[in-house]
Amino acid sequence: MSQPLVLDGLKVAEDIKSKLQARVSSLKEEGVTPCLATVLVGDDSSSATYVRMKGNACEKLGIQSKRIHLPSDTTTEELIQCIEELNQDPLVDGILLQHPVPSHIDERAAFEAISIDKDVDGVTSWGFGQLAFGFGKYPCCTPAAIMAILDYYNLPIEGKHAVVVGRSPILGKPVSIMLLNRNATVTTCHSRTQNLSDLVKQADIVVAAVGKPNFIQGDWMKEGAVVLDAGYNEGNIGDVDYEACFEKASAITPVPGGVGPVTISMLLKHTVDSAELRANQ
Ligand code: NAP
Repeated sequence: MSQPLVLDGLKVAEDIKSKLQARVSSLKEEGVTPCLATVLVGDDSSSATYVRMKGNACEKLGIQSKRIHLPSDTTTEELIQCIEELNQDPLVDGILLQHPVPSHIDERAAFEAISIDKDVDGVTSWGFGQLAFGFGKYPCCTPAAIMAILDYYNLPIEGKHAVVVGRSPILGKPVSIMLLNRNATVTTCHSRTQNLSDLVKQADIVVAAVGKPNFIQGDWMKEGAVVLDAGYNEGNIGDVDYEACFEKASAITPVPGGVGPVTISMLLKHTVDSAELRANQ
């Protein structure tokens, strides 16, 4: 078989950002500067890096980044109070609470405190419900990134069998819903799924969202499958055995440089979408 198409997330991200640039400029001409508030609780170094990357990406595009760093002994009530203040702040368009928060905090309660209008990371159950009904404004960013990659490369979704491996609320479940909303036939797999490899072998589209390095094997792939690897494990390793799956796939995302960069662009896009709604109020 010929070499697969390598789905270049950096290229997709640049395309999204270049379109956003013009929208940010015209918002600024109207006196509106889009603003994303990021909330980091505690001292986890990877979380701090993710938040810094998101803040820097905002600033590069002219989006204001309001960075809030709370100490690790912050209580659930204090975190919710902080989120409520951001909900009330008319100059904040989006709120991102970096996951995970320290374990003594009720993370779900904190996510739920984010106003639906500012839930640009798609973490509230209200946003999830809207997504399921097909009219959500701000889907979770990684699932949205996966869909954006498929669309950028004009890869067909309708009628295809998509197998999603993983069912987390921020990734596997919402991407399954988004594929279903686009008329794919979706199988969602998880840790109790039986005969996983047989199911993956039936897939036209494989989404890997497991959190286990090199988990999806080359000999599980149908010839010509489209492979999207959302996994990001220590050492820049995806959830897909890239070399082995490369042999079988018709298109595949690399790690790094695949889903990751597009995820950040989707966060920026949702923040700009929200700022435009503010400008039009
Ligand atoms: P998660 O919450 O740990 O969920 C992992 C999912 O994989 C669960 O649904 C789990 O099933 C399933 N699973 C675990 N072992 C399995 C097995 N042996 N067979 C089949 N399914 C299995 O992880 P997540 O937050 O969704 O993240 C998944 C991956 O995506 C991670 O590598 C993470 O770093 C990455 N990620 C990347 C981005 C990005 O921007 N690129 C963003 C978010 C996450 P159960 O539900 O049964 O436990």
